[in-house]
Amino acid sequence: MKTLSLREPGQFEFLDISFEPTLQEGETLVKVLRVGICGTDLHAFRGKQPFFSYPRVLGHELAVEVVEISGDSYGLKVGDRCSVEPYLDCGQCQACRRGLTNCCEKLQVLGVHIDGGMAEYLIVPTDKLHPSNRLKEDQLAIIETLAIGGHAVERAELGTEDIVLVIGAGPIGLSVIEFVKMAGATLVVADREESRLKFCEERMGVKHTLLADEWFHERLLTLFDGYLPTVVFDATGNPASMMKAFEYCAHGGKLVYVGLFQGEVTFHDPSFHRKELTLLASRNATHHTFRTIINHLENGRMGPTPWITHQLSFDELPAQFPSLLEPSNGTIKAVVQLQ
Ligand SMILES: [Zn+2]
Ligand SMILES: [Zn+2]
Repeated sequence: MKTLSLREPGQFEFLDISFEPTLQEGETLVKVLRVGICGTDLHAFRGKQPFFSYPRVLGHELAVEVVEISGDSYGLKVGDRCSVEPYLDCGQCQACRRGLTNCCEKLQVLGVHIDGGMAEYLIVPTDKLHPSNRLKEDQLAIIETLAIGGHAVERAELGTEDIVLVIGAGPIGLSVIEFVKMAGATLVVADREESRLKFCEERMGVKHTLLADEWFHERLLTLFDGYLPTVVFDATGNPASMMKAFEYCAHGGKLVYVGLFQGEVTFHDPSFHRKELTLLASRNATHHTFRTIINHLENGRMGPTPWITHQLSFDELPAQFPSLLEPSNGTIKAVVQLQ
């Protein structure tokens, strides 16, 4: 079986692994059709992903086809095309027992903590497969990215009266934007890159965008006649942005950290209390979010996402990878075609 292994930072290697799968009850053998590439993969490649061990087969944004099912099929059939929920929970811990499988105490993410989908075949727990034979393979591969945004917006419990600021218009920010639009809230998007804001306006139908420069705060104050955002999503993973974001929230508002970084976040407690803010973290997504998104896409409540800017073959991936996520390439989302 052809497998692409990240042997060490910066070094991919194609391997031909002998693969005679024996499925345990509850597992399904799938053929990998598409793999989406994201920031996590790039960090792993650059060696900047903490707690990451090598060698590792990357790939957690997956479109697959069912080959063989062992045990309960959950209604799946051989040949069904599915999106994969790559968050393998233990099912036993306190979080899992409360249904919070997205933040399982022993969570293992495919392609991060254990080997992922950059291979011809993969074995996954059957209940982590979310089928849709109506969606295209590329769309199935970006459902995981959408789910990150979907879960963050669920955490915030948005209403139509909310004014929402999304900071960071990379793929995660864009996925948040999709759900803010669906909730009918007023939206403004901020980013340091003019080109990303232009993309939001032209391709995502975002009315208000603001460049995140030194005049950002003043412009935000005047945009809604002195009203501030009631909900701020930070999708940058940038500590300076994350700490500054407290200032942009209205009194009684919420701040949701979707992006993350490895370090400490500090904030001024009197300001936090004066505003009576709510600070929320958002991690991964649950089964329910994957199903909801597939349903929205199948029924046209959510349009096809315009973010796949690069498509490439499995063979050309190692050579293209280093330059793939350079901002100068205009990449939003790259998808690899395996078969
Ligand atoms: Zn990802
Ligand atoms: Zn658990």
